[in-house]
Amino acid sequence: MSGTSVLHHHCLLFTPPEDQPKTKTPEVDLRLKEQECLSLLKRCKSLEDFKQVHVQVLKWGLFFNPFCAGNLVATCALSNWGSMDYACSIFKQIDEPSAFVFNTLIRGLVKDVNFKEALFLYIEMLESEVKPDNFTYPALLKACSGMQTLEEGMQIHGHAIKLGFEGDLFVQNALINMYGKCKEIELSYTIFEQMDERSVASWSAIIAANASIGLWYECLMLFGDMMSEGCWRPEESTLVSVISACAHLGALDLGRCTHGSLIRNISELNVIVQTSLMDMYLKCGCLEKGLCLFQMTTEKNQLSYSVMISGLAMHGQGKEALRVFSEMLEDGVEPDDVIYVSVLSACSHAGLVDEGMQCFERMRSEHQIAPTVQHYGCLVDLLGRAGMLRKALELIKSMPVEPNDVVWRSLLSACKVHQNLEIGEIAARNLFQLNSQNPGDYIILSNMYAQAQKWDDVAKTRMEMTSKALKQTPGFSLVEVSRKVYKFVSQDKSHRECNNSIYEMIHQMEWQLRFEGYSPDTSQVLVDVDEEEKRERLKAHSQKLAIAFTLINTSQGSPIRIARNLRMCSDCHAYTKYISMIYEREIVVRDRKRFHHFKDGTCSCRDYW
Ligand code: ZN
Ligand code: ZN
Repeated sequence: MSGTSVLHHHCLLFTPPEDQPKTKTPEVDLRLKEQECLSLLKRCKSLEDFKQVHVQVLKWGLFFNPFCAGNLVATCALSNWGSMDYACSIFKQIDEPSAFVFNTLIRGLVKDVNFKEALFLYIEMLESEVKPDNFTYPALLKACSGMQTLEEGMQIHGHAIKLGFEGDLFVQNALINMYGKCKEIELSYTIFEQMDERSVASWSAIIAANASIGLWYECLMLFGDMMSEGCWRPEESTLVSVISACAHLGALDLGRCTHGSLIRNISELNVIVQTSLMDMYLKCGCLEKGLCLFQMTTEKNQLSYSVMISGLAMHGQGKEALRVFSEMLEDGVEPDDVIYVSVLSACSHAGLVDEGMQCFERMRSEHQIAPTVQHYGCLVDLLGRAGMLRKALELIKSMPVEPNDVVWRSLLSACKVHQNLEIGEIAARNLFQLNSQNPGDYIILSNMYAQAQKWDDVAKTRMEMTSKALKQTPGFSLVEVSRKVYKFVSQDKSHRECNNSIYEMIHQMEWQLRFEGYSPDTSQVLVDVDEEEKRERLKAHSQKLAIAFTLINTSQGSPIRIARNLRMCSDCHAYTKYISMIYEREIVVRDRKRFHHFKDGTCSCRDYW
């Protein structure tokens, strides 16, 4: 019988060492003690239990045994009842700690969010000439991710290369994570693309890296690749990233599908997953479904209330938002400044002036939250929408925080709707002084001048705009067709296989729209070209291309959902109203702030957005 099989035999029939037959060799005796030490450690449920085992090990004289010492440190450092201080004190008494002991302690420190100490311990490890192994680096890289320190991260990466762990799967996954956390997505991709073999964790890491910097479109593309490479069982965190991506991109079908796979794979959805699902449905325009999930959430926290209230605000459901808000207060959940922004914007979208003012007072007096410029922005919007322009201007002048561009822009938009050129000019001038980079602001002012037939001022404003050479953030529109998200930019010709059909459709649509009375509003074109060229450019705004593409590729009568990164221009708004009537389609467009539900030739925003 070999030594190990004896050991195995005895372990199964575990009896206290005193009762062992006296014929055993000292080596077997040692092995038995080691095994007993391990089994005692495994049974520890508290630090008190552990301390007793520690005493026992000292009594047996086994503390200098590397196996026992290592397991003592590991148990104390990594158990949920453990204590890093106690583990460190044991560690200090070990003469020649092994790589295993160092690794365990490093992992324990990382687990305790004590990242700096973890790196110091690594230095100590190198100084005491213990050779790190492939288990050392993932933990260290995790520490660097936690601190988001690129420099240290790169040094650790260098060491891992030097010691030949560059190709280790766990090291590579940790590197993707670390570079992602440090917002160095290019470096994450470099590692990812070099990998011979990728695990579910590798995909999770690269998807999370993209999600953390808002590259939602890329998230979905990667998720598709992951599935097609046969990784069918994504981690919960990946599904959450994918759900957030669907929320941002308005990809409802894919979102639904991911929801399904969550239900199939995970027995109980935790509150984080539930909230992200709720957010997804709300942002994809499914208010009912969002509300339903909200009601099903058993332990609602601040975040779940916050998501629900802001969802209701986006959908223009002011009264309902206030109801959920008071439910939250009854539930004993403390509101924060973010929730108040949602509550106030819900009031403003629904024209609830008195209620909004009351909430603002309550926030200051009852909940002692100092209003920020965002809160004041909501109030200005609230008053502006209700046509109380002078009051809004007075509020801006009297508020204790510096007004920002959002505040002045709300006032300017309100002036446009209520046709008040005098206050509109004040708002626009203040906005331009803040170095606003948004050409849309100049367009609003110049259109207001045009309405008042002040042609000199129209020309001046236009000139001012061109002289500043304003660069607009490139706008795009996203649509989902057959669970795939398509991205369109203005004047897009990148969709090779269907360019011709899209532009043909655009031509056909325009013909029908004009027949119904639509006329293109070329004042929305910013570049200085002739009228004909302006009409051509206007035709190919991203939202129109997205609509044309969806009309071609989806069945009659199915709703069209578009997500945009910017506010739509007023020509696209008018155009979409006509489309909803002529093609009998419900069109839901979401921009950064709110939803537009186009149906039978009208929009839910009542032309004010
Ligand atoms: Zn447009
Ligand atoms: Zn609208």
